[in-house]
Amino acid sequence: MVDVLIRHCDVLRTEGERAWVETDQDIAVEGARIQAVAAGGSLGAAAGEVIEARGMLAIPGLINTHAHVPMVLFRGLVEDVSVESWFNDYVWPLESNLTAEDVYWGALLGMAEMIESGVTCVADHYFFMDEVARAAVESGMRAHLAWAVFEHQGEAQLERTAAFIREWQGAADGRIVTWMGPHSPYTCGPDFLRLCARRAAELGVGVHLHVSETQAQVDLCLRQYGLTPPALLAETGILDGRALFAHCCYPTDADLELMAARRVGVGRAPKTYMKLSSGTADVRRLLAHGIPVGIATDGATSSNSLDILEQMRLLTLLEKYMGGDSTAFPVGQALGLAFEGGARVLGQEQDLGALQVGKLADIALVRQDAVHVWPRYDPAANLVYSSRASDVDTVLCNGKVLMRGRELRTIDKARVMREVAERLGRLNQRVPGSRIATYPV
Ligand SMILES: [Zn+2]
Repeated sequence: MVDVLIRHCDVLRTEGERAWVETDQDIAVEGARIQAVAAGGSLGAAAGEVIEARGMLAIPGLINTHAHVPMVLFRGLVEDVSVESWFNDYVWPLESNLTAEDVYWGALLGMAEMIESGVTCVADHYFFMDEVARAAVESGMRAHLAWAVFEHQGEAQLERTAAFIREWQGAADGRIVTWMGPHSPYTCGPDFLRLCARRAAELGVGVHLHVSETQAQVDLCLRQYGLTPPALLAETGILDGRALFAHCCYPTDADLELMAARRVGVGRAPKTYMKLSSGTADVRRLLAHGIPVGIATDGATSSNSLDILEQMRLLTLLEKYMGGDSTAFPVGQALGLAFEGGARVLGQEQDLGALQVGKLADIALVRQDAVHVWPRYDPAANLVYSSRASDVDTVLCNGKVLMRGRELRTIDKARVMREVAERLGRLNQRVPGSRIATYPV
C-alpha cells in the first residue's frame, strides 16, 4: 500500500516551450517520491491517505529561486521610495531590529503564505538562518538556505555562516540544502569574495548572491575594479562552483558567455523590478545562452507577496510588453521557467520540476472550478494568466501532505499571526544611524 494516492486529477506536462494536460490520472506517492502516474482508477483505492482530486490540476510544486522570507515582517512598510532610500532609510535600519526569534516567526509566516500558494521549495537568503532552517523543518518545505554576510561584518561572521552550513547541509531528509551567502559584490570586496569562494569549495556548496540588480551597480563595479560584477565573481573564484545570481538584470554579452560556461543560474523577480523601477525584460537573452532561469519573489518588503504564480504572470507580460512582441514567451515557456527552470537553477533538475515517476513528490493540486478559470479551453493558459494563489487546494512536499482542502497541517497560522503582531511595535522602529549595512549612492 502506497503512502499517498491522488486520484482522478489532471496532470500538467511541460517540455521545451510546449505545455499540455493529461486528464484523469492517478499519482501514487511512496516515501518522498512519485511511485506511479497512471490512468485514473488504475492504481486502486488503497493508500495511507487517499485524495480524490477530480477536476483539479496537479502541478509540480512551485519553486521560489530567490527570497528573503522573514522580510514578510516588514510587508507594506516601505512604499514609493527610490532604491537607495529603500535600503538606506528603511530596510537596513529596520533589519537592525531583528532578533533570532523574530526571524523564526517571520519565516513561518512566509512559509505559510508560500504553501498556501503552491510553493514547495524556496532559495532563501537572510540572517539567523538556523532559525529559518528550524522553520523549514517544522513547515515541511524544501529550503535552499544561504546565511547573508557583508564584508564589514568580518571573517568571524563568515565563519559563523560556514558553521551553519556544516550543521544543516542535507538536514531534514535532504529537504535542507545550504549555500554560502555573501550579500553582493557592492557590499563584499574581492578579498572577502575570495575567502567566501574558498570556504564554499571546502564545504562543497554553491554561492547565492545579488548580482547586477541595477545599471548603477554595474557602473560602480567597473569604476572600482575595472570588471563587471560577473567578471569580478569569476576572477575571485566564486564561479568555480555552482552559483545562484539573484536578478542579474544588466549582464553584458561577455557576462552571458561567461555565465553560460559556468554553473550559474539566475532567479528573476519582476514584481520587485517594476515596483523599484530597477530591472529589465531580457530573460530571452539569458535563455538564448542556455543559462538556467527560475522565478523568484525576492523579499515581501519589495514585492509584497511570496506568490510565484503572480511573479510568473508578471514576468511573461513584461517580456511580451517590453520586447514589443506578443508572440514572445508562450505559455509553455513561462511554465517551463516556473518548474524545470527553477529546478535547474538549484541544481535539482534530477529530482524536481516535473510530475514523473522517481522524482520527489513535491506536488500542488489547483482547483479549476472557479468562475475566473471558466471555461477551460486551455488549462495551461489558465494557470499562467487566470489562476489565483487561493485556487491551490492541496500541497505535498517530499511526499508529505502540508495542506489539504486549504487547511495547513504543519503551521498553526493563528499562532504565527499573533506572534508576529506582538512584535510589530518594536520592528517598525527606525533608529537614526542604526543600519545593518550601507547601500552605495
Ligand atoms: Zn534579494
